[in-house]
Amino acid sequence: MLQTKLFTRTKKEAPSDEVSKNAKLLIKAGFIHKEMAGVYSFLPLGLRVLKKIENIIREEMNAIGGQEVSMSVLQDKNLWEKTDRWEDQKVDAWFKTKLKSGTELGLGFTHEEPLTVIMKSFISSYRDLPKYVYQFQNKFRNETRAKSGLLRGREFLMKDLYSFHESEDDMLNYYDKTKDAYFKIFNRCGLDAIYTKAAGGAFTASYTHEFQVVAPVGEDTIFVCDQCRYAENKEISNLKEGDSCPLCKGKIKKEKSIEVGNIFPLGTKYSEPIGLTYKTEGGEERRVVMGSYGIGLPRLMATVVEVFSDERGIVWPESIAPFSIHVLVLGEDGEVFKKADKIYEDLQNKGIEVLYDDRHDISAGEKFADADLIGLPYRVVISERSLKEGGVEIKKRTEEKGKIINVDELMNLLVPRT
Ligand code: ATP
Ligand code: MG
Repeated sequence: MLQTKLFTRTKKEAPSDEVSKNAKLLIKAGFIHKEMAGVYSFLPLGLRVLKKIENIIREEMNAIGGQEVSMSVLQDKNLWEKTDRWEDQKVDAWFKTKLKSGTELGLGFTHEEPLTVIMKSFISSYRDLPKYVYQFQNKFRNETRAKSGLLRGREFLMKDLYSFHESEDDMLNYYDKTKDAYFKIFNRCGLDAIYTKAAGGAFTASYTHEFQVVAPVGEDTIFVCDQCRYAENKEISNLKEGDSCPLCKGKIKKEKSIEVGNIFPLGTKYSEPIGLTYKTEGGEERRVVMGSYGIGLPRLMATVVEVFSDERGIVWPESIAPFSIHVLVLGEDGEVFKKADKIYEDLQNKGIEVLYDDRHDISAGEKFADADLIGLPYRVVISERSLKEGGVEIKKRTEEKGKIINVDELMNLLVPRT
């Protein structure tokens, strides 16, 4: 992508009411636009990151048998009354609206209810089970606090997976599979998540589990073992800092953390009121056992920004960076630009994702500052000096100093994305 064609530009300042580091950096670098508190639009660079995260999640969901759907945002009040999740006293996150006739509707904050209804018309026998269904879909939540940028949106993209089983055992078996898939997802996005025991909440029977990433900005507090990483959310925990770990000889530490995902054993909470049942081999009618599994994509993206950015800007892991290389051409228009244009084209033809700062009349300092702010994994500088020294100067975003390599080396350095 030519930077002269990109409609976004970096900004010196983020909106004055924006307090979170993730949103400040993402707005300044041109990844997102703030519509209002807790509501953000994704611009070309931001959308590329979101899509990469989405693809990683999709691969891992498909690998554990997930089938992708897309459910409606508009929700029928009658359905949510069946599960006692319509009243504001029960669920205060609803955004509610009305048809012209006056009939009330809600904007979905989660999707257990409508999916259970869908599955009712396809599941009737033990032969129809298990099934795993997921989607990427915008959720609407009337969050009280929306000061944390993408970490807590009022409208945000969620991956929600739901599983349907004959028995609790089968569900728990799958629960472990999703746990492994979640670790793969977070690792692939560069994050070190801690599997944390958490409270069941009003709509689940037993414990649930959260994936927590340690970060000072986190709204959660966890107690985590410094050896085996056993962890409990403070909300349910009797542990305290300095305790011995209940599982090993380690010491318990207290940390602030961000919940990037969670998994819930739902039991028959939804299948019972909605009437999702199946017939066993012996002809007995039983309730379907369910689980649900969520990840907020913008929250994951914001967590990466919170954890990896430095004083100069964002530091994207290669797996979710909007482009792999930022090519910068310095100096006057002429020979150097011609060389740089050619290198850009060759990289593109190789399938490497390149952002090419082909702007004229911009100082080297400004180009460097923008590259650091945007935070692509590699910066490649082409200037009269680099060409005299034998090629281009390459530097990782995480390195202080670059080195000169020749153009062939550059071409062989990066593997195209498949
Ligand atoms: P929290 O306790 O942070 O409000 P939650 O328990 O309400 O989260 P779920 O309803 O289980 O979360 O949603 C699944 C996932 O969606 C969460 O693990 C998180 O990654 C993400 N998520 C939840 N609320 C938001 C939000 N307001 N903005 C962005 N992501 C969110
Ligand atoms: Mg919440």
